This record gives sequence, C-alpha cells and structure tokens, in this order.
Amino acid sequence: MSHLITNARILDGTGREPFLGAVRVEGNRITQVTPGAAAPAPDGATVINGAGATLMPGLIESHAHIGLADLGSLDLTRLPVEEHMLITVRNARTMLDCGYTSAFSAAAPKPRLDVVLKREIEAGRVPGPRLLANGPEITVTGGLGDSNLVHLPHYETPTFAWVADGPDAIRRVCRVLAREGVDLLKLNLSGDIGTSAWPSEQTPMTDAEVEAAMEVARARGLRVAAHCRSAESVMMALRHGVEVIYHANYADERALDALEAARDRIFVGPALGITYNLSQAAGQWGVTGERSRAFEHELAVTVDVVGRMRKRGIRVLPGGDYGFPYTPHGTYARDLWLFVKILGFSAMDTIVAATKLGGEIMGRPGELGVVTTGALADLLLVDGDPLANIEILQDRGALRMIMKDGALHKAS
Ligand SMILES: [Zn+2]
Repeated sequence: MSHLITNARILDGTGREPFLGAVRVEGNRITQVTPGAAAPAPDGATVINGAGATLMPGLIESHAHIGLADLGSLDLTRLPVEEHMLITVRNARTMLDCGYTSAFSAAAPKPRLDVVLKREIEAGRVPGPRLLANGPEITVTGGLGDSNLVHLPHYETPTFAWVADGPDAIRRVCRVLAREGVDLLKLNLSGDIGTSAWPSEQTPMTDAEVEAAMEVARARGLRVAAHCRSAESVMMALRHGVEVIYHANYADERALDALEAARDRIFVGPALGITYNLSQAAGQWGVTGERSRAFEHELAVTVDVVGRMRKRGIRVLPGGDYGFPYTPHGTYARDLWLFVKILGFSAMDTIVAATKLGGEIMGRPGELGVVTTGALADLLLVDGDPLANIEILQDRGALRMIMKDGALHKAS
C-alpha cells in the first residue's frame, strides 16, 4: 500500500519553517519528502491532494492515562474491570480521533488495562495510538493515590494506585507488573494537593523504595516515570536514574541544576492541564476556599519553574493528565494551547515538543514525531495553520486526515 500526499504545507516537526511539497508513503514509512511539485505518483499509489492544508506529524501524548474514565478516584476504584476495559478501548479510539498517534502512559488505574489495550492495538483489532504501557501508580501509605479508608475491610487492597511500603513490597509490585507485560513503571515520590495525605512539597517515598523499583526496572528493561512535585523528589528521582519527571513544580535551584546536568537523558512533563483547570474553574468541581487557592499557587509556581527550565535547555513536554472529570478525554490538545497561552512557548516550540520530543520520549527519535524520509508514517492533514492558531488542533473537524503506521484512520 502506498500513498502520495501532494500540495501540502509541510510542518515537519523538527522546527523547520513550513514549506509546500509532497510526501510519499510506502507501507508504514515515509519514503520521500519533496519540496515543490510532486514527482508523478507511483503505480497503484493512492493520491491525496492536500489542497494547501498543513501536513504534520501525528501528535504524541507524553502523560497519557487512557484507562482513566473521566471519574473521581473513588468512583474509579469502584469501577468493575469489565466496564473499565471497554471504557479504555473507547478512550484509545478518542485519542486517535483527536490526532494523537502515540501515547506514553503515565499509569493505568488497573494493572492490565494498558497491557491488554496495547496488544489489541498492535494486532489491529482496535483503533488507538502506539502505546507504551504502564501499570497502576506505585505509592506508599498516605501517598498520592492511597484513598483507602481504614474502617473498611480489606483496606489494603489497591485503589487506582498500588500501595506498597518498604523496598521488598515495592520490588514485589514492580515484579508483578513486569510479569504482566508493562513497558513502564510509575512511582509517586512526592505528595499532591489531590488524594494524598502529604502536600506537594513533601516526599513520602524513600531512597530505598525508589532504588528497589529501579533495580527491577533495570533487570527487566523497563523505563520509569515519577510523580515529583517537591524539590526533594526531583533530586531523588535523578539520583536513582528515573527518566521521566512529571510536574517538578517546586524544583529549587539545586534541583534545576541537577535537571540541567541530566538534560540529555531526562524529560519533564509539567502536566499543566489539570493544574490549570482546577485553578480556574475549581468551584465547578467542588474545590473551594483554601484548596482552590492552593491550585492557583501551584499554577503560578509552575509557570515560573518551567520558564527557568527552558532557559537551561531542559526538554519540557505537553500532556496534562487528561481523563479526570475536570480534564475529560478528548481535550488533550488543550495542553498545547496552554503551552502558548500560559507558559509563553511559541506555537512552533509547542508543536516540536508535541511531535519531535514526543518521538524521543517514545524511545524512537527520528522515527516518530517528524515528517522526514525514513520516519514512520504517522501523519495529520490539518485544515488551517496551527502556527497561527494553535487552538485549531483542539478541533477534531479540522483534522482532514489521520494516518497511523501508513494506514488511514480517517481519510481525506
Ligand atoms: Zn497523571
């Protein structure tokens, strides 16, 4: 199967200014990118006339929670696995419908949701993005995600996170998830304003616990992401070789120095969407008073710290914790708009972060997130100019074509 997309304005994801040209796809790879008029279509190729629309790489979600069900944490814990799997399958389709062709999972609320979904997507049985699968967030008692109630029987059963205390228990949980087939592990190092007994600035997980998880990760070739709001949690993550650091809101100068020193091997995802939405319309979600002001404070701190990270050349990626009631599925590209509106990124830098840097976090630099010869054919044809109007990427109707792995999910 081959495709020739002609007469498109190519925004290739590398940061290069857009140019008019044609892209040839054979099988699942881009085999030619030609500025100007296209060479004649090869025999049997399907020709797609871009008609001046923007051809760009598929978007990459670097903080995906495909298994979240637009529910609060208690409802999520109560959700039976049968319904939960179907909702997850539906969310995967939504993500692809929104132009997201890859997803780096930042945790699944039940152990096998991502793993089973990934298998079905790769077999072509259900539509969805390329997926790096994760398990439940691993947390300690009282840490983020431990919503257990001590007066209820079996209060030590998992919620949407898995509670484990001490290196042995952490090691066991990681080994179970490795056995079930995850690609990634997620550790909750710091506290949070959400379901955590510890505030964002504190760090309930210990060095010994993080090291125990890393030991299993290294032995099994798993990659590790961590929830790190506090400065100490950022330091701890870096000390043990955690690769993906989410939030980093309270990184101080020492933590920023350490991030900068590790900038070629780490990624930071501020997950702005959730903080922004809860700081703006907090009352709508029953978040009032002091708690609402806490989110406003966290947003202000985040804007400041991300500005300082960018000056140090640290890779900062969009992906805003979508899948809660206040950040529903289908609104992922709102994070791109927030990068421009709140963080002061240019539209070009935002797109590079959501495509080329996304390919890097997926572990496939030069293959994902770029429109270049030899790259995998994950492509969007957008009616309009995302550089002039980043909000257009939130409009599914503006996506004329969605191609993943050389196959059309949505035809022009
Ligand atoms: Zn998250």
